[in-house]
Amino acid sequence: MTVRTRIAPSPTGDPHVGTAYVALFNMAFARSQGGQFLLRIEDTDQTRSTPESEQTILGALKWLGLDWDEGPDNGGDKGPYRQSERSELYAKYADQLLDDGHAFRCFCSTERLDALRATQIQEKQQLGYDGHCAHLNKEDIARRVAAHEPHVVRMHVPREGQCSFNDMLRGEISIDWAQIDRQILLKADGMPTYHLANVVDDHLMEISHVIRGEEWINSAPKHILLYQYFGWQLPVFCHLPLLRNVDKSKLSKRKNPTSILYYQRMGYLPEAMLNYLGRMGWSMPDEREKFTLDEMLAEFDIQRVSLGGPVFDVEKLSWLNGLWIREELSDSELADRLQDWALNRDTLMAFLPFAKQRMETLSDLAPLGSYLVSGMLPISAEDLQSAGMEQDQLLEVLQYSLWRLESVQQWQRDNIFDSLKSVADAMGIKMKPFLAPLFIAIAGSSASISVMDSMALLGADMSRARLRHAIELLGGVGKKKLKKMQKAYQQLDRNC
Ligand code: GLU
Repeated sequence: MTVRTRIAPSPTGDPHVGTAYVALFNMAFARSQGGQFLLRIEDTDQTRSTPESEQTILGALKWLGLDWDEGPDNGGDKGPYRQSERSELYAKYADQLLDDGHAFRCFCSTERLDALRATQIQEKQQLGYDGHCAHLNKEDIARRVAAHEPHVVRMHVPREGQCSFNDMLRGEISIDWAQIDRQILLKADGMPTYHLANVVDDHLMEISHVIRGEEWINSAPKHILLYQYFGWQLPVFCHLPLLRNVDKSKLSKRKNPTSILYYQRMGYLPEAMLNYLGRMGWSMPDEREKFTLDEMLAEFDIQRVSLGGPVFDVEKLSWLNGLWIREELSDSELADRLQDWALNRDTLMAFLPFAKQRMETLSDLAPLGSYLVSGMLPISAEDLQSAGMEQDQLLEVLQYSLWRLESVQQWQRDNIFDSLKSVADAMGIKMKPFLAPLFIAIAGSSASISVMDSMALLGADMSRARLRHAIELLGGVGKKKLKKMQKAYQQLDRNC
């Protein structure tokens, strides 16, 4: 059997370090077995997927030094490698399941499903579809289809017994069928859901090993059932442990920057990042911490992956990055890296339109713009307090702004402005005093260029990381207070 693995990102946001980690292990496993590793774009969610996100994800993975044998950019025999270009295929397979009695059309309205959910929550029952349309009679179905009544296609799922399957790292896993929802396979608009498209494509692309994050374990029974319904050979499943924050919670952008773009902007070397990701649950036989991708590939053994939640610790990453800088780069190479990174004309050209008005001499540039090529700023709680706001309100302004900015889709000046303005209005604070602490948090000084422009230049992740840093400098927000603030924010968000 030829080993074939894949990474299947959904292009709905920034490139996540978790995607790079799973991609690295897929690639390492395939290469260590003399197999192939491919990249497939799972963009069936047309409302959230964007070509820009796809480009950024591909670019970030390549920047790290990952490469795939087949993919949307380099082609291959089993393409297209973008699900939106394969849409007719899925409907055909859904029809096959309908014909064979493994799936059914469900005409339930959103109102009915909402009411069902509300009752299930109230009565503390298992959430999920109740099978209302699972056994409609043929004539009824034909009549409703002919009348173009909107409907979805759901899979039949046994209500009793267990699904048992083997996971390469975890051994046998058993999940009660009663916990598995009768999954929608085809949406009312005819587009497949992740589950159908993923299984069909893994089969057609001859994926032998499905290596992915452990958050997909509960989906495995649905996938296994689909393989059985189609009469296809099962791939080997391997669910990698999820990356964790230092406090062991699931790595999330609320606690840690998760976008590869942030780490790029911070000035981490791709080799060091990849090295660190290779340390996530895995170690070299001699336990050395610093190794190249080639060294990892030469020694790779997936059975050495340990399941105890690997911690993505930025401090450790920084330490490793320092080793790479000191031990692997000559001064001349480091100079090249710095130029490639940010000390270049592109950075100047982006900043000069704002800086020019404030310059009298060329040497004014560095103090004006140093925050653009910095990581976390050397500011203190006093600096933030100098904006003249009392502590509670200061924390609220920073925290609410952070939450609000987390939902900005297109990171552009005007959208950033609108978001911040809506928070300021909802809090009843004028823009000028509202923005004052943000200037300090983002640019280190109230004398900098407009804070919205600064945020646009810095990018979403760096901006959010600085706001988080400012909150920490002020002593952070305790659990109790955070809950209170979340409530207040929800109220405020409704008024925004
Ligand atoms: N598109 C899914 C994701 O975004 C892929 C999950 C899988 O690997 O099956 O993570």
